[in-house]
Amino acid sequence: MAAPLALVVGSYNHDYAWRVERAPQAGQTLRGDAFRTAPGGKGFNQAVACARQGVPTAFIAAIGADAAGDGARRLAADEGIDAHWQTCTDAATGSACIVVEAHGQNRIIVALGANERLDPAFLREREALFAAAGVLLVQLENGVEATCAALDLAQAHGVLRVLNPAPVHDALDGTLLARCDLVTPNESEFALMLARTGGARIDADTLAGRDDAELHRLARGLGVPSVIVTLGAHGCFVSHEDARRHADARPYYRVAAEHADVVDTTGAGDAFSGALVAALLRGRGRPLRDAVVHANRCAALSTEHRGAAEAMPRAADVERRFG
Ligand code: ATP
Repeated sequence: MAAPLALVVGSYNHDYAWRVERAPQAGQTLRGDAFRTAPGGKGFNQAVACARQGVPTAFIAAIGADAAGDGARRLAADEGIDAHWQTCTDAATGSACIVVEAHGQNRIIVALGANERLDPAFLREREALFAAAGVLLVQLENGVEATCAALDLAQAHGVLRVLNPAPVHDALDGTLLARCDLVTPNESEFALMLARTGGARIDADTLAGRDDAELHRLARGLGVPSVIVTLGAHGCFVSHEDARRHADARPYYRVAAEHADVVDTTGAGDAFSGALVAALLRGRGRPLRDAVVHANRCAALSTEHRGAAEAMPRAADVERRFG
């Protein structure tokens, strides 16, 4: 039997970024410089992060019938990703307009375009991919019906279901979370999830400094068996309903961040989720903690390079740095 796949169902966006002295006021035209365009979208970034760790990775996403969509096909092929593209004739490939001011402030407009048209029927026609998967990874840049359909197909085939709940929006509620085995919010997403599911109202900026037992109690309020909160330069926090299910010795613990010579943290969360899934697939039966340590290493390495998908480390990079 073939080795199980990591299956990512998610978004592809093309980023168009300009560096400017300061963002223009209404009605104003300013000259910018250092224009760069780069592939992105949380789904694609995470698929690249996963594939670069050397596990077979399939990706399902929707793009427009346009040049950016053609670029997406080439990029996925270059990464060795088994991509399944739904081509939309009535929507453009997702795009993001990013204005970076001299002092580092970002202003971003995302047009999700085709990503929102990902059709649950397109996923069901590819049920064989779900049957062949060991882990499913989804985010929140598609229509919620498609995300739920992916999670349901995974459940039908006994596949571990991982949600990176980014960006959090109104569709995220208890019914979506009830479909997940593991979630990987960052601090602000965790705070928003608690608020959206009727839990405590907390200030995201205070999370990393809170007591572990309190973080565990808050995480348990989400009703998801395992929660990993990424804490930026503070690493991450893991909370389980049943630690034995993941071969972990403790119901909750922290993993400190690895040292990194940080250049750009864009996509660090994507590096974490993609690498986590790769390690979960490869290390089935081993403690979840091992996979979290690997994800933490990959995410730290991703911060040492500019960009998102392009910054994802390869298995050899992790080996070289951490042995
Ligand atoms: P982004 O939106 O920029 O992709 P995020 O907000 O989703 O990131 P973070 O919680 O900021 O995610 O970071 C994800 C992971 O990246 C952290 O758990 C950690 O492993 C790693 N990381 C982030 N910042 C640093 C840093 N300064 N040094 C080392 N590791 C870092």
